[in-house]
Amino acid sequence: MPTHTTNADLFARAQRVIPGGVSSPVRAFGSVGGTPYFVARAEGPHVWDVEGRRLVDVVQSYGAIIAGHAHPAIVEAVAAAAADGTSYGAPTEREVLLAEEIRTRVPACERVRLVSSGTEATMSAIRLVRGATGRDRLVKFAGNYHGHSDGLLADAGSAVALIEADPSDPTAVPGSAGVPRGAVADTVVVPYNRVPELDDTVACVIVEPVAANMGLVPPAPGFLAGLRAECDRVGALLVFDEVITGFRLGRGGAQGRYGVTPDLSCFGKVIGGGLNVGAFGGRADLMDQMAPLGPVYQAGTLSGNPLATAAGLAALDLLDDAAYTRLEATARRLGEGLAGALGAAGLDVVVPVEGPLLGIHLAADPAVDYDTARTTDTATYARLFHALLDRGIALAPGPYEILFPGLAHDDATVDEVLAAAGDAARAVAEA
Ligand code: PMP
Repeated sequence: MPTHTTNADLFARAQRVIPGGVSSPVRAFGSVGGTPYFVARAEGPHVWDVEGRRLVDVVQSYGAIIAGHAHPAIVEAVAAAAADGTSYGAPTEREVLLAEEIRTRVPACERVRLVSSGTEATMSAIRLVRGATGRDRLVKFAGNYHGHSDGLLADAGSAVALIEADPSDPTAVPGSAGVPRGAVADTVVVPYNRVPELDDTVACVIVEPVAANMGLVPPAPGFLAGLRAECDRVGALLVFDEVITGFRLGRGGAQGRYGVTPDLSCFGKVIGGGLNVGAFGGRADLMDQMAPLGPVYQAGTLSGNPLATAAGLAALDLLDDAAYTRLEATARRLGEGLAGALGAAGLDVVVPVEGPLLGIHLAADPAVDYDTARTTDTATYARLFHALLDRGIALAPGPYEILFPGLAHDDATVDEVLAAAGDAARAVAEA
């Protein structure tokens, strides 16, 4: 797409018409400073900005892209679907196929409902557990992010971690103004990686089975199984937010990898192949309490959208066992290389790798929860981010986001990232 503009010009124009110039806060470079690059196009592991600059992209739409940008199979599927119409407001065959595909890979999802984002998936799942249990309280973990619905924003990670609550406002909830106190009155926030003691007022525990919005914090051995047992003890439901881990951590997501079965699962990102999709699913007796069968209401004009389901099906089609083996090998090589390159320059760094996921934690000791995750050196991250960007490598512009190596990041691309990382880390360490 030829453009005759610059990032700075577009950012200035954007800020005059869009709050902060962006459609989602982290993109504004608030925590790293500087001017965001505006993407003109992308292919494989690369994005090109409007100035024609090519970047190796490790953001990959925060995990919505797993097979590389503009993968021909996905582009073709979307184009073919678009030619048949972009939305009908009536059921389609591809929705059935996508739901069946999800159930095949994640057998605990006996029934699946498609929505348009991860936020909708978790929000709807929470409504369902409350409706099904007749209980109101939900337990979430500090630093876990489940989208931006009111009741789930308390002590969330991702870019929310960068916003300070206004201490002069007694109604402020850490994370956002505008969330009524009542909306979080039934949200209990507890530390990650410790099994909380529940009572019979708890409707559900919602968890990122691998925490990926406070950097990358893998579950401690026994943590997820412990949650399952504690939920069972008091009759609470266990909800896995697999918006990041689903279909990325392996064919069966986190529940397949760790062998712990939740009552409900939430998905997004990978299952939309880069288009707007979310889903939630679980036991039939629970899911059948959704409208139109049951009393729990949820709906969406664009739910099960023809383009999104076409893209999702095409993406899942690329994800066989060999793909996961490759993803893991890429993440391991990238992780070991980054730890080596940054460490050799004298930076305190831990690079946790869990399957195909990895993070950069700029501290001497690994993070196990939100408190330890926040020991990461955010100022050094900002410098490292820019040093890498100057060398043609795009990390996420936020210290709590993780890296998403995908199937398009071949060995040569990883080598390019690692060479730049060594150089960038030395520049940061010397500054
Ligand atoms: N849950 C998790 C674990 C996520 O990482 C995200 C988004 N990063 C969401 C939910 C929300 O998804 P969306 O941005 O599609 O609303």
